[in-house]
Amino acid sequence: MTPSSPDPNHPRTQRPRPSLEAVRAEIGDCRRCPLSETRTTLVFGVGDPHARVMFIGEAPGKNEDLKGEPFVGAAGHLLDELLAEAGLVRDQVYIANILKCRPPGNRDPRPDEIELCTPYLRDQVRAIWPDVIVTLGNFATHFILHTERGITGLRGKVYRTGHFQVLPIFHPAAAIYDRSKVDILHADFTLLRGLLSPVEAAASECTEGSDHGAGKPAENPEPSAPTLWEDVK
Ligand code: SF4
Repeated sequence: MTPSSPDPNHPRTQRPRPSLEAVRAEIGDCRRCPLSETRTTLVFGVGDPHARVMFIGEAPGKNEDLKGEPFVGAAGHLLDELLAEAGLVRDQVYIANILKCRPPGNRDPRPDEIELCTPYLRDQVRAIWPDVIVTLGNFATHFILHTERGITGLRGKVYRTGHFQVLPIFHPAAAIYDRSKVDILHADFTLLRGLLSPVEAAASECTEGSDHGAGKPAENPEPSAPTLWEDVK
């Protein structure tokens, strides 16, 4: 099985779920939060609707806002380079953000904006039903894993939340300004490559909660918190 080929036995084929087209239609010309007043383009997401790997970033930046696509510009080029490390190209994965509209000046997303926008992201996850969710930076990681722990302490390990394996990594944009993070990102994409190999994937299915396929323990940073699995299943 290639990294993007649909698995006929995958749970996502056995339960009703929204289509990405339906989720996009539901968003429409969303005006739920004030970011609708300042955006140029609503950035929904891009990629394979049957991807085994879904990347979740923070919010559109200036270039993304203009082009309507996530991860263009320098951070996008780095992401393409990292995908190659995992044996992937963009067309084989799906990329979306916590917020669909650009915060002015690239400021951090606000809690009320995250609350209003993330129901769309939950539906995107339900539609794609990936095996692996890669969270880029603190905001995506905090939302997916329901934790306040920082990305520096969480990266380098794989977490299990229901069906999904979650791999938190530094946001590629952070590595543009701090080149010391580039080598760390390459190491984390090597870990992703291992997760996607048939042998490792089979091993992780058999060893949930114990030794992980890459030799690291699968763990949840906040085991008592509600999980993404409970949100989307
Ligand atoms: S950021 Fe999300 S909630 Fe706010 S206007 Fe854009 S799509 Fe709607």
